[in-house]
Amino acid sequence: MTASAERRMRAYVYDGKGGAVLADVPVPEPGPGEVRLAVRGCALNHLDLFVRQGMTGPGLREHRYPHVSGGDVAGEVEALGEGITGVEVGDRVIVYPGLSCGTCEYCHRGEISMCRSYRILGEQVWGGLAECCVVPAGNLLRVPATFDLRAGAAAPVAFTTGWRLIVSSGHVRVGETVLVVGVGGGVASAAMQIAALAGAEVYVTSGEDWKIERARELGAVGGVNHRQRPFDEWAMEVTRGRGFDVVVDSTGQATWRSSIRSLSMGGRLCVCGATSGDRPDISIRELYQSHRQIVGAPLGGRPDFDVAMGLVLSGRLRPVVHAAYPLERVAEAFDELDAGKQFGKIVIEPGPTQGAARGSER
Ligand code: ZN
Repeated sequence: MTASAERRMRAYVYDGKGGAVLADVPVPEPGPGEVRLAVRGCALNHLDLFVRQGMTGPGLREHRYPHVSGGDVAGEVEALGEGITGVEVGDRVIVYPGLSCGTCEYCHRGEISMCRSYRILGEQVWGGLAECCVVPAGNLLRVPATFDLRAGAAAPVAFTTGWRLIVSSGHVRVGETVLVVGVGGGVASAAMQIAALAGAEVYVTSGEDWKIERARELGAVGGVNHRQRPFDEWAMEVTRGRGFDVVVDSTGQATWRSSIRSLSMGGRLCVCGATSGDRPDISIRELYQSHRQIVGAPLGGRPDFDVAMGLVLSGRLRPVVHAAYPLERVAEAFDELDAGKQFGKIVIEPGPTQGAARGSER
């Protein structure tokens, strides 16, 4: 037994019935091909809320409790399992959160999220809302000493999903028009930047004017406050009756019909979430009579991650951090995420704390 097997760590542990507590648990040991990280940042996603409340339903995978979630992880390597090469203790890394069999046709293509045994770090296996976290060495991306791990934690899910939405599945081209519905979440702020970088003219919707202003600072041309007027009506006006080539919708039920009505002839609705519910009331005729398509884009594959992270590391895409909290304040951070008042990601920083911070943007 190694010394670390006796070590304990703090983790945010769920009971599967909506309850969660900051508890002392044994530090996990890395198995063959795995490493243990000291977690320096773990950004929250809606998935964390769903897992904490024990949500079940179509399209959701099974969870076992007690459980620790957290799939958006940046940290430092502190222990190596058997057979690890090319990674050293002390390396600073960010983590691709998709886990898979590694041997099927989809895995061979790098399409981790298409694998039949696809799992997400923090969803089926313990994640990063703890002082330490074990991940496969193959999921790591080493980052330079100068790269801020708070921004690193804010990047993987948002930008890998954003890349999938806009580039790999959405096929956004130079000169196209893109509408990002409900800007404010991590994926929306990433998708918006990627669409602008791809040469599209990007607009946003939000229920709050200040979020539209923030979106402009990140490359959006304009936007509409959807509390003040129906955004589909505005969409036709701003595009002179044509509609948008692409609408990005992670909200689901509450916005799908308006999103479809905001599309051009042959436009694509790119979907990566259903935070408001997954049973929309839509008109099928409004879809097919106008040659419109619905494109599903969950977390992208490893190639999506690698390209997007390359652009994050070079500073051409900027992870947006709304706030950072120490692990002691994780429950408060969940409340903030649930209330939807943020712009960008909320990051938990276990371990040597950098203190609470707000509005730090890289
Ligand atoms: Zn596979």
